[in-house]
Amino acid sequence: MKPLNADLHCHSTVSDGLLTPAEVVRRAHGNGVELLALTDHDELGGLDEARATADEIGLRFVDGVEVSISWGDDQTVHIVGLGVDPADPALRQGLQQVRSGRDARAGRMAAELDKVGIHGAYQGALRHAGNPALVSRSHFARYIAEQGHARDVKSVFDYWLAKGKPGYVEHAWATLGDALNWIIGAGGIAVIAHPGRYRMSKAERQELFIAFKDLGGRGIEVLSGPAKDEEVREFSRIAREFGFLASRASDFHGPGESWMDLGKLPDLPDDMTPVWSQLV
Ligand code: AMP
Ligand code: MN
Ligand code: MN
Ligand code: MN
Repeated sequence: MKPLNADLHCHSTVSDGLLTPAEVVRRAHGNGVELLALTDHDELGGLDEARATADEIGLRFVDGVEVSISWGDDQTVHIVGLGVDPADPALRQGLQQVRSGRDARAGRMAAELDKVGIHGAYQGALRHAGNPALVSRSHFARYIAEQGHARDVKSVFDYWLAKGKPGYVEHAWATLGDALNWIIGAGGIAVIAHPGRYRMSKAERQELFIAFKDLGGRGIEVLSGPAKDEEVREFSRIAREFGFLASRASDFHGPGESWMDLGKLPDLPDDMTPVWSQLV
């Protein structure tokens, strides 16, 4: 049987994506995606529009969210919730609380950037975000690139915004336990997002997977972003070891600004249990 073209991780203008929820859905459909989840950062506000568009064009759609959590010694990890009920009060309240820290963090980031000669970054980032509760490093990156401090958004992260760089400030996101309670309580399946993107030792990563599973986490993005062969092998092995469901996740943010376009990832290895087998 032909594998399903599922893409269960992407962003819209309701967080740090460049396309509206409706545009994301149309692009996914145009790219051949057969099952799509919109997973904006800590925000459910795009799901109604995305689902309405998906219904209109006949694309199967899953309500999703990507929750930012703090882990260990100032690590940020992302947990994707799939099949969540967007009306669930505890989920909504929890996400609202996570978002409420973004504005003050942006102020602290701008103050640090100001010291190294990047001025006006708070207002600049806010212009891109449109809403102080959604302002993210991606919005700062767009402003900084626009001001000519780096060649493109990607290099802005390398020079200014990645951990250890002048515009990076520590921030307390949700806890792993809270994020899993919100997602599972809202009827969703929790999935570890882009496991290859965390700067952790193998042992630290293993600790994260163990805690995640203990707290009810069920899935891992075996395929994410550019999906290097070596990483796909490694995370398939982890999925086997822990009995995790496997997800396929472009993490699309916008044309020209993403590691990967919607629906373009390779197929999951044959022996994986796709997370969508539990969603549809
Ligand atoms: P924040 O939640 O404000 O810390 O912003 C994190 C977002 O920045 C991620 O969701 C990505 O969209 C983006 N991002 C993080 N690292 C990079 C990178 N190295 N290159 C491009 N975008 C990045
Ligand atoms: Mn993002
Ligand atoms: Mn992420
Ligand atoms: Mn993402």
